[in-house]
Amino acid sequence: MSDPGVKKLVIIGSGPAGWCAAIYAARAQLEPIVYCGVPKQDPGPVLPGGQLMLTTEVENYPGFEHGIQGPELMDTCRRQAERFGTKVIEDDIDRCDFSKRPFTLYPAEGGEVRAEAVIIASGAVANWLGLDNEMRLARSGGAVSACAVCDGALPVFRGQPLAVVGGGDTAMEEAIYLTKFGSMVYVIHRRDSLRASKIMQKRFMDRPNARVLFNKAVEDVLGETKCSGVKLLDTVTGERSTLEVKGLFIAIGHTPATKFLAGSGVELTEKGYINLRTRNSYTNIEGVFAAGDVADAEYRQAVTAAGMGCQAALDAERWLAAKGID
Ligand code: NAP
Repeated sequence: MSDPGVKKLVIIGSGPAGWCAAIYAARAQLEPIVYCGVPKQDPGPVLPGGQLMLTTEVENYPGFEHGIQGPELMDTCRRQAERFGTKVIEDDIDRCDFSKRPFTLYPAEGGEVRAEAVIIASGAVANWLGLDNEMRLARSGGAVSACAVCDGALPVFRGQPLAVVGGGDTAMEEAIYLTKFGSMVYVIHRRDSLRASKIMQKRFMDRPNARVLFNKAVEDVLGETKCSGVKLLDTVTGERSTLEVKGLFIAIGHTPATKFLAGSGVELTEKGYINLRTRNSYTNIEGVFAAGDVADAEYRQAVTAAGMGCQAALDAERWLAAKGID
């Protein structure tokens, strides 16, 4: 007989992957527990619900002809998971012991939770350039941020020249949003072509207050208490210049949230993503599954994360059934 103190399935993370896994697992009567995390600065904003909580319109998630706001999508997913009996705990998991089954997870608020199976869907967090002044100004409210959607509407940015670093879709999305507030928005990119999709590039370039500066690396952020400009290095000619901007937004990609897996034995890739076994959600540890951006360096879309969450729940359900736990 199974120990009533042991949960059948714990899901770590509350983005599209976590919620979709929870919906499937709850409908399969696995009584999943979701550790949805708590808001924090890491060093930028991290919210339960993941990256969609820091985005505005999501236009490419099927089923929403006219788009849906990211936070609304995540709230709806949570309610859908709860409707089928998912229990949501507003805490982080700090450490995992996967050395023996049932597994033991250590929540940040203390105590421990034991689980027969675990799905890791902890997502990824925004990257920073790593400049001293960038971090100092970001932490002190000095008009440096990694989330335009969170901070762009603040008075400090209104009517001012602003810069976004990066050349991907995130950079375009942030820059488009900022054109509503800034007098001019510069996208600073280190190469001579953008990585962003053509439609996003066009949407940005169509704004009258949009400029892209190619072949430029940001060497420093200037300003004592507030950003007053950025020091640029031309990556082709080696020339240095200063661009006067009153706000800097960093949009250079993300890092998978796997710190809490240190010492757990879960195999990671070189870039820190969970290394999945071919064609399914199995990690190298039997009974530990992974889904979403934490295990996907390639697609990183809300819909692919949700699909991976579904796969992880089905894999966990079948694996538990094979162990006689259902
Ligand atoms: P990304 O596609 O990995 O792009 C990161 C950008 O930052 C690249 O242009 C990269 O330059 C640049 N970069 C990285 N490190 C840098 C550094 N140290 N200094 C200067 N520049 C640096 O990341 P993303 O834009 O966050 O997008 C991630 C995924 O989410 C993509 O699949 C994207 O399509 C998707 N996404 C979609 C939407 C949408 O459709 N609405 C919105 C946001 C994101 P290089 O190009 O030189 O590598």
